[in-house]
Amino acid sequence: MSVAAKGVSGAGFDVERVRADFPILQQKVHGKPLVYLDNAATSQKPRAVIEAISRYYEGTNSNVHRGVHYLSELATAEYESVRETARNFLNAADHKEIIFVRGTTEAINLVAQSYGRAHVGSGDEILITEMEHHSNIVPWQILCKERGATLRVAPINDAGELDLVSFSKLLGPKTKLVSVTHVSNALGTINPIRRIVDMAHSVGSPVLVDGAQAVPHLKVDVQALGCDFYAFSGHKVYGPTGIGILYGKTALLEKMPPYQGGGDMIMSVTFEKTVYNRLPYKFEAGTPDIAGVIGLGAALNYVTRLGIERIGAQENEVVRYATDAVSTIPGVRVIGTAKEKAGVLSFTLGEVHPHDIGTILDREGVAIRTGHHCSRDRKGARGVRVMSDLRDLYQDVILEHSKAPRNYKELPAANHKAEGFNPLCGDRFTVYVTMEGDAIRDISFQGSGCAISKASASMMTQIVKGKSAAEAEKLFDNFHKLVTGQANSNGGAELGKLAVFSGVSEYPARVKCATLAWHTLQAALEGKQETTTE
Ligand code: PMP
Repeated sequence: MSVAAKGVSGAGFDVERVRADFPILQQKVHGKPLVYLDNAATSQKPRAVIEAISRYYEGTNSNVHRGVHYLSELATAEYESVRETARNFLNAADHKEIIFVRGTTEAINLVAQSYGRAHVGSGDEILITEMEHHSNIVPWQILCKERGATLRVAPINDAGELDLVSFSKLLGPKTKLVSVTHVSNALGTINPIRRIVDMAHSVGSPVLVDGAQAVPHLKVDVQALGCDFYAFSGHKVYGPTGIGILYGKTALLEKMPPYQGGGDMIMSVTFEKTVYNRLPYKFEAGTPDIAGVIGLGAALNYVTRLGIERIGAQENEVVRYATDAVSTIPGVRVIGTAKEKAGVLSFTLGEVHPHDIGTILDREGVAIRTGHHCSRDRKGARGVRVMSDLRDLYQDVILEHSKAPRNYKELPAANHKAEGFNPLCGDRFTVYVTMEGDAIRDISFQGSGCAISKASASMMTQIVKGKSAAEAEKLFDNFHKLVTGQANSNGGAELGKLAVFSGVSEYPARVKCATLAWHTLQAALEGKQETTTE
C-alpha cells in the first residue's frame, strides 16, 4: 500500500494534514492532483510562510537598522529574531555567526572570495568531492585560477559514497580548505561530516559544508559536526527564494575581510578610511531581503513544529517504499545506493531519455526533476495507460525513428557541419551536410537526445535530402509552425510524414527537442560551427 494512501504513516506523520498546509498542492495539473516531487530543486511553501510575508508587507514594511521610527524598530526586531531562530535551528554558539545571504551559492562564493582570497595562495589546494553541486565547484575553480592554487576532487564509489581512503590521501599540508556537501542532491548520500571534519582539522584545514539538501531532511547541529562554515538555502526548506544562511565560526569570520561594500556593513565612512561594522553586519552590505528573512524564520519554525526527526523518518519510509516500487519496473536502475541516504530517489529507465519520462509523468500531474532523475512512484507502473494518453506525442513512427534513426552516421565527405545543443535537457547533435552547388546532396547526424529530438533529426535528414538550401529553410519554417501550433493546411501537406509532430504543440517545453536538429542544419548551412537553442 502507498505510504501516502495510508494517511498516517508508520512514522506517525499525518500526511494529509501536512499536505493541507501547502495551498499550491490543492491544485490539479492536467486534470490530476498535483504530486510535487521536485523538492530538491525547490520546495513548496506552507501557508505559515506565505502569511508571514504578507503580514510583513501589510503591517511592518520598513528598512532595518536605520530608522528610529516605530515601523523600522518593529521590522528590525522581527528581522533579528530570525537570526536567533536560525542560530537555534543550527545550534550555532552565537547569533553573530549567522549571516543572511541570498542562498547556498552566495554563501559559498562569500567564503571563497573572502576567506579564500585571504588564505589561499600559489601552490595551495582546495579539496572537494565528486558529488558536489556546481555551486560547490565553480567558486573554487574561480578562486584557484585567481590564486594559482589547485582544486583536488575526492572520488566516490559505485554506491555513491565518498571514498574516505582516497579523501584522506588527498589531504595534506597544502590543503587550505575542504568543501563538501552534507547530502548529495543527485544521489541522496549523507556524508559522514564529523569524520571528514576531524580528518581535515588534523591537517589544519577548515571545512565548509554545503547543507542545501541536508537542512530539509536532517537535524543539523553545527557544533556537534565541528564544521567551520555551513551554508543552506531557504527555498529548499519551505522558505522563500533569494534568502539563505551562512554559518561561520566567530574566530574565522572575525579575521575575514568583507565580501561586498555598502551600507549596513560599515561602522563609519570617510573618504580616507572606512571602519567595518561588527559581526554579522560586516557581511551584510546593503538593504537585505527583509521579507525573505521573515519568511525563512516562519519556515524554520514550521519545520521545528513538525519536528525535523519526524520529517526525516517519514521521508525514509517514502524513499524505501518508492525504491522497492520502482525497482519492480523492468529496466529501472536506481542511482545512489549509499547506506546513509536522505529523501532522494534517482533512477534511469533503460534507454528511455529522462526528458520523455518527465513529460509522461507531467501528464499524470507528477512533477519530477529530469536530468537528475529524481522520482517517486505513486501506485506502481501505469506505463500503458499513460502512453495512450500521450499517443499524439509519441506516435509509433516517432518511436520507431528514435529507436532506429535513419542517416545516423558521420559523413566524411561533408563540407558543412555544425553541433547543436539544448542546454535544458542536454541533447546534443552533430549534423553533417554535403552540398553540391545549392543542393543538399547528402546529410546525416549523430548524437544523443530524447525520442522526440532523435526522431525529428532522423526524419529531417530524409526529407531534406536532394532539396535546395532554400527549400530546406522553407520546410523548417513550416515544421516550426506545425510544432508551435501555427500551421496552415498548405505547409502541413508539404511536411508529409513530419505531420506526426503536430502533437508537440501541446507540450511547449518539447518544441526545442523537435527543432534542435533543424536549428543545427540551419547553422551548418550558414557556415556556423555550433548552435545553442534558447
Ligand atoms: N548545493 C546543493 C547540494 C544543491 O542541491 C543546490 C541547489 N540545487 C545548491 C547547492 C545551490 O543552491 P541555490 O541555488 O539555492 O544557491
